[in-house]
Amino acid sequence: MATITLEQEINPWEAQAARFDFAARKLNLDEGLWKVLRYPSREIIVHFPVAMDDGRIEVFTGFRVQHSQARGPGKGGIRYSPDVNLDEVRALASWMTWKCAVVNIPFGGAKGGVICDPKKMSMGELERMTRRYTAEIIEFLGPEKDVPAPDMGTNEQVMAWIMDTYSMHMRQTVTSVVTGKPLNIGGSRGRKEATGRGIGIVCDEALRHLGMQRDGCRVIIQGFGNVGSNAARIMMEKGYKIIGIAEYDGGLYNPNGIDIDQLFEFRQRNGTVLGFRGAEAFDPHELLLTDCEILIPAATENVITSRNADRIKARVICEGANGPTTAVADEILADKKVFIIPDILANSGGVTASYFEWVQDRQGYFWKEALVNEQLESILAESFDDVVRYSEAHAVNNRIAAYMLAIDRVAFTIKQRGIYA
Ligand code: GLU
Repeated sequence: MATITLEQEINPWEAQAARFDFAARKLNLDEGLWKVLRYPSREIIVHFPVAMDDGRIEVFTGFRVQHSQARGPGKGGIRYSPDVNLDEVRALASWMTWKCAVVNIPFGGAKGGVICDPKKMSMGELERMTRRYTAEIIEFLGPEKDVPAPDMGTNEQVMAWIMDTYSMHMRQTVTSVVTGKPLNIGGSRGRKEATGRGIGIVCDEALRHLGMQRDGCRVIIQGFGNVGSNAARIMMEKGYKIIGIAEYDGGLYNPNGIDIDQLFEFRQRNGTVLGFRGAEAFDPHELLLTDCEILIPAATENVITSRNADRIKARVICEGANGPTTAVADEILADKKVFIIPDILANSGGVTASYFEWVQDRQGYFWKEALVNEQLESILAESFDDVVRYSEAHAVNNRIAAYMLAIDRVAFTIKQRGIYA
């Protein structure tokens, strides 16, 4: 790969595009389809006012990028963060297209974001900002158009406000316009835990594939948000040994395994994992480089880069976050023979359960949790198998295999539908 600056390396759009170009070349993708799929089909930027609690008017900037709607409505989360920007949302929207295609669910890819710091806003401010953002992009949303979901900085409550705002404009309740909603207003059982559960499923599959044991298998997880914490709890129940948890403000390490149930309780009481007695305090950056069988980056982009990839000791990296590994780091890890379960497969449990939620809302018939979990397991195990077989058949790594599989599926759909003129 040509030499690139660190700034380029950590630009999520460049990271996505580098993998897309590589996979498209391997696929011998038609030049026209290449141009269609390389860029998002619609990018919406809105600047909108919100009345703050102290009487001031603040203007916020929000994005919604729809990368592709070829295989179905756009699908993807909304991120609230001070750092969110158009390139990041573009990359995340493209990743949603590939993710939905890897697990073969009938959605395209989209993503949204608002530049804000939700930790510093009151509930009232968050609600007014969410409702106004929804109203600004409302003509582009809908159960058959584009279906948002939670992502970093957003949650079930934010989804409830979006659903309500959309419904007020439509003059009827439309639950299927968003997923990741609270249970009593059309949410799905098992949705909240689904990304973490999916991580457990693909890790099981990876161990089976590599001929490794699950019992006592040492796991380090970066991030203890919705994804990381549920992965930790579910994997501990399966028999994995969670020896490290890295958070943005500190880390925990216990070579004998951390009791995740106790850690949940501790965090509930104290609002942080720091100070937990069941493990020693540990530098969170060092935890990524600590000896273990499975490393799960489940926080944010660009945590494994050219700066630290050569010091990773894990045998398996399972990407709970979107884009945690840069393209340059991929090459270093490939030389070290690290088995990567790429983000668009590893964290696809969330959007797969979102698909179940959308189906249930439209049917008005709600599934038992056991059915959600069983369907999730079957889709993810099959997708893991598809990716690994594809990688073996085409002699490419898992990430490129996942991209190739996804791009091929989306390109095929576009060819079948034809180009409207
Ligand atoms: N934000 C999640 C993701 O990145 C979930 C998206 C969804 O459920 O639509 O996959």
